[in-house]
Amino acid sequence: MNWVGGEWTSGSGTFHDVRSPYTGQSLGRVYQSDAGDVDRAVQAATKAAREWALIPIKERSQVMYQFRNILLRDIETIAKCISLESGKRVAEGKAGMMKGIEVLEFALSLQNLQEGGRMEVSRGVNCEYRREPLGVVAAITPFNFPAMVPMWMLPIAIVLGNAFVWKPSDKTPFTSLAIATAAEEAGIPKGILTIVQGGQATVESILDHPGVASVGFVGSSAVARSVYRRAALAGKKVLALGGAKNPIILMPDADLEMASRGIVDSFTGCAGQRCMAASLLILVEDEAKRGEKILEEVVRKASQIRLGQDMGAIISEQSVARLNAAIERASQVGAKILLDGRNTQAPTGFEAGYWLGPTVIDHVKPGSEAACDELFGPVMSVVRVKTLSEALEIERASPYGNAASVFTSSGAVAQRVAESAMAGMVGVNIGVPVPREPFSFGGTKDSKFGSGDITGMGSLNLWSQMKKITTKWSVSSDQNWMS
Ligand code: NAD
Repeated sequence: MNWVGGEWTSGSGTFHDVRSPYTGQSLGRVYQSDAGDVDRAVQAATKAAREWALIPIKERSQVMYQFRNILLRDIETIAKCISLESGKRVAEGKAGMMKGIEVLEFALSLQNLQEGGRMEVSRGVNCEYRREPLGVVAAITPFNFPAMVPMWMLPIAIVLGNAFVWKPSDKTPFTSLAIATAAEEAGIPKGILTIVQGGQATVESILDHPGVASVGFVGSSAVARSVYRRAALAGKKVLALGGAKNPIILMPDADLEMASRGIVDSFTGCAGQRCMAASLLILVEDEAKRGEKILEEVVRKASQIRLGQDMGAIISEQSVARLNAAIERASQVGAKILLDGRNTQAPTGFEAGYWLGPTVIDHVKPGSEAACDELFGPVMSVVRVKTLSEALEIERASPYGNAASVFTSSGAVAQRVAESAMAGMVGVNIGVPVPREPFSFGGTKDSKFGSGDITGMGSLNLWSQMKKITTKWSVSSDQNWMS
């Protein structure tokens, strides 16, 4: 169903089946909105945006504060919905919601932060910045964080005074209904949050619609690149976040427990289906084989993970087949599979779901598919090098630039990695280096098309514009005050 102008609607066009990754069974159908649906949604949003922009930011923030409280009250129910449709564990759904609520709380602080600025630039002349909303803005989001990723954008865009049109992934459309219900109860005015369900054609209608001023996109790099191009050609502001192949550099002096735990959590959390998952371990070898011991511990810990309890499911049957084929190809080109998730038992009663256990592939060659491509599953490729410089060369050569981490006990090594890595988000002894607000979220290279970031102060220009006002008042004077 679409949520347009405060009403649930759907047309008579095409619907797609949505299946739960846990059971493979149908959860329902999602409507594929066409250009007419998008136009009606943007018209309703445009009407609502005019009024909303006139309300002072402090009052808009009050409404959003109610929204925060309702989301917190309903977090268990929403997390269960996230889990059911995306395959995440309920705890992961809840963690994603909490991160989204953190962004909402940052948005609430904008009433005190985003005032602009004013200066006397000449005698009797003042210049002033005024941050203004854009009108109707849109967000297009991926399947893997059905609540968190939209919540990176929704609160900031709405607090800044825009109407927000959201196109969720058509693989995970149902969480958006729970969020719209919470928004309605909070008193977010009709038309300020709009949901249009659909896939590629729906996205293209949004990108082409002249009534949409700005677009935030999060998804795979190929789609991010084309969305960026199309929106920019249409004259919109646009920021498009793409995929990732995040490396962890494992130094021989790393703490065994901290490193092995951090590495396992990073590549198995959300079943590896997150843009901050590490999927490449660059092991810096030493004579005492300390890195080797940490790798053994990684394999031991990962082998204890129980599907359905410690790790969730893969989004679709096609994704499992794609991952299985990539693992097979890696072994065919000489890599050694230390832990083969293809053999992991599916949880009892959930055999028809989409499963792959943690997989560790050693002796992967730099430049090969397993070392370079985003596989998007619980698969860790291990590349072995002799020096930190070689490790950094691999990091810097990647077309992606989302995250990079190092596990080490050396401050000097940590500093060198932090300064030399090209990724936008760097971790030291942290496997998933997601910055907390107000530090903004965003990568570099093919992980992000456009400028700014998707959260924090770095996102404000995506959802607003700065007007410059120059003022001079006539005063009784015997000289011209304007210099
Ligand atoms: P996807 O690119 O397939 O889909 C993302 C969105 O685009 C969905 O709403 C989808 O309906 C729509 N879409 C799909 N194909 C399209 C097309 N050809 N034209 C226009 N729109 C299209 O991504 P996904 O599989 O849903 O999500 C996983 C990907 O997202 C991974 O690559 C992951 O790394 C990335 N991701 C990145 C970040 C980040 O912050 N950089 C965060 C989460 C996910």
